[in-house]
Amino acid sequence: MYPKVVVDLQKIVTNTRIVADICKEKSVDIMGVTKVFCGDPKVAEAEMKGGIKYFADSRLENLMKLKELDLPKILLRLPMISQVDDVVHYADISLNSEIKTIEALNIAAMAKKKVHKIILMIDLGDLREGILPAQFDETVEAIMKMDNIMLHGIGVNLTCYGGVIPSEKNLGQLVDFAKIVKEKYNHHLEIVSGGNSSSFYLVPQNRLPEGINNLRMGEILVLGRETAYGELVEGMYDDAFILEAEIVELKEKDSIPTGEIGMDAFGNKPTFVDKGRRMRAILAVGVQDVKADQLIPLDDRIDYLGSSSDHMMWDVTDADYKVGDIVSFKLEYGALLSLFTSEYVDKEYK
Ligand SMILES: *Cc1c(COP(=O)(O)O)cnc(C)c1O
Repeated sequence: MYPKVVVDLQKIVTNTRIVADICKEKSVDIMGVTKVFCGDPKVAEAEMKGGIKYFADSRLENLMKLKELDLPKILLRLPMISQVDDVVHYADISLNSEIKTIEALNIAAMAKKKVHKIILMIDLGDLREGILPAQFDETVEAIMKMDNIMLHGIGVNLTCYGGVIPSEKNLGQLVDFAKIVKEKYNHHLEIVSGGNSSSFYLVPQNRLPEGINNLRMGEILVLGRETAYGELVEGMYDDAFILEAEIVELKEKDSIPTGEIGMDAFGNKPTFVDKGRRMRAILAVGVQDVKADQLIPLDDRIDYLGSSSDHMMWDVTDADYKVGDIVSFKLEYGALLSLFTSEYVDKEYK
């Protein structure tokens, strides 16, 4: 069935092993972040074979898909107060930044006679989640008073909203906060989590501050790239996931539409370049599944023309396709995310 994403699980194992081995040398454990492939258990299992120590996801629904796989489950997105019962039930650890939510988790954990572990997130400049450094003392003090919450770790998230690059300076600050917890509360933090795939580049350069013992890795494991500078990591694969889509129409047509030009399918006024008559292929895949700017054609003879919900047009004049042929693409992060989210896209594993 097409369209489909073909997943090479061995490439995921290899990618993960390379990252895990480099990190292990510096005593850094990795969490495999499964949200970009919607917690697909086969992909998750490949990461497990490659050496991750935890599964982490933004959504409980995805963590629930992984319950047969025997690794601790981390909820990455800050819990909603409305979901704290499920968080305590399905997640071993959650990331937090709101004392009201942590209080609600405490009550939910008490009702289940559990102790729920949290990682307190600190905002060190990227302006997504995290308490401000000035709130650190009062927040830790309040958490320490809760009987059913364990302050299991602290963490930072960078290069997400603000694009801030992880450095010895900002990650050094995180290590300093861990030291404060030790000195002031005589409390050892199991996890000091220094960010996502964008922090990886510091590890082989020997620049990850000592004391950071955990990284949360999503993109790098599946697409082979660190994400501070977008470099492919040596020996890793950027083609573990391939989209295959089928040509349903192939005709030579004008490059400029005929008639008065109004709006396209999404309310935008399109513009065109006149290249004369061109061979145009329509693929049976559309914006409902993936955006074309997130696709990299394996065949460099083809050029993108446009999409609507269920159709995607490519100029294939310089190539030699037939109706019914398959066109293949490597994926960017957004493509992987939306293709795994689309129920209309088949998943095949090899
Ligand atoms: C998505 C996410 C990650 C993983 O990010 P990548 O760039 O894919 O490695 C890590 N931490 C948090 C909090 C996230 O939401």
